Amino acid sequence: MVGPTDALVSELASIVGAEAVKSGALDRHLYSKDAGVVRGDVSVVVLPKTARQVAAIVRTAVAHGVPVVPRGAGTGLTGGAVPEGAAILLVTTRMDQVDVDAANRTAWVGPGVINLDLSNQTASLGIHFAPDPSSQAACTIGGNVANNSGVLTVWLKARPSTTCLPSNSSPPVARSLWPDLAPPTHRGSTSAG
Ligand SMILES: Cc1cc2nc3c(=O)[nH]c(=O)nc-3n(C[C@H](O)[C@H](O)[C@H](O)COP(=O)(O)OP(=O)(O)OC[C@H]3O[C@@H](n4cnc5c(N)ncnc54)[C@H](O)[C@@H]3O)c2cc1C
Repeated sequence: MVGPTDALVSELASIVGAEAVKSGALDRHLYSKDAGVVRGDVSVVVLPKTARQVAAIVRTAVAHGVPVVPRGAGTGLTGGAVPEGAAILLVTTRMDQVDVDAANRTAWVGPGVINLDLSNQTASLGIHFAPDPSSQAACTIGGNVANNSGVLTVWLKARPSTTCLPSNSSPPVARSLWPDLAPPTHRGSTSAG
């Protein structure tokens, strides 16, 4: 497992703060796999809080010639968040802003918001975020969108690909729409776990 250069660690720390950069051997080992069976190679783990910080991290990665792999909660089963070569692992779990517009059945969320937290926050408003994989107590909206995840309610309502739109705002970075109860018109084929 290849560790990061001191220069890379120090540049990342100047962006997110030293406490949000993890470069020790134990941290790199712990983050080197998701819930699947494959283990990869993490050079350094960084936990940004804002989209502006994400952009700065990517610029730094390009300058150092190091790939970036995003990760939400790491509950994926297919190794999507497992880098193949030594990479910066960009973990979104601190990007957890939620802004609900109940009248328009819309929420602006950071990619690191835990799926179940969104529905818990909106329950008193009588609305619910429909894509709810069995891992919803841990997985993030960003991971849901990237994997187009969902299960039971999805068949009645909709998948992330039909309920989430990218946002240009900074932050949050995703816009989620609650669909009405009409059955989806498309037929998806991805992960119903
Ligand atoms: C017990 C259990 C039950 C599960 N049940 C289901 C189920 O019912 N239905 C289902 O579909 N899946 C299920 N899964 C799989 C998994 O939970 C989902 O795929 C979930 O959406 C992954 O979210 P995550 O935040 O953990 O993403 P991660 O595992 O961290 O990442 C998954 C992929 O998304 C990418 N990614 C993450 N965040 C971002 C981002 N912000 N921008 C770009 N790319 C990003 C990663 O690079 C990776 O490729 C289950 C897993 C477990 C362990």
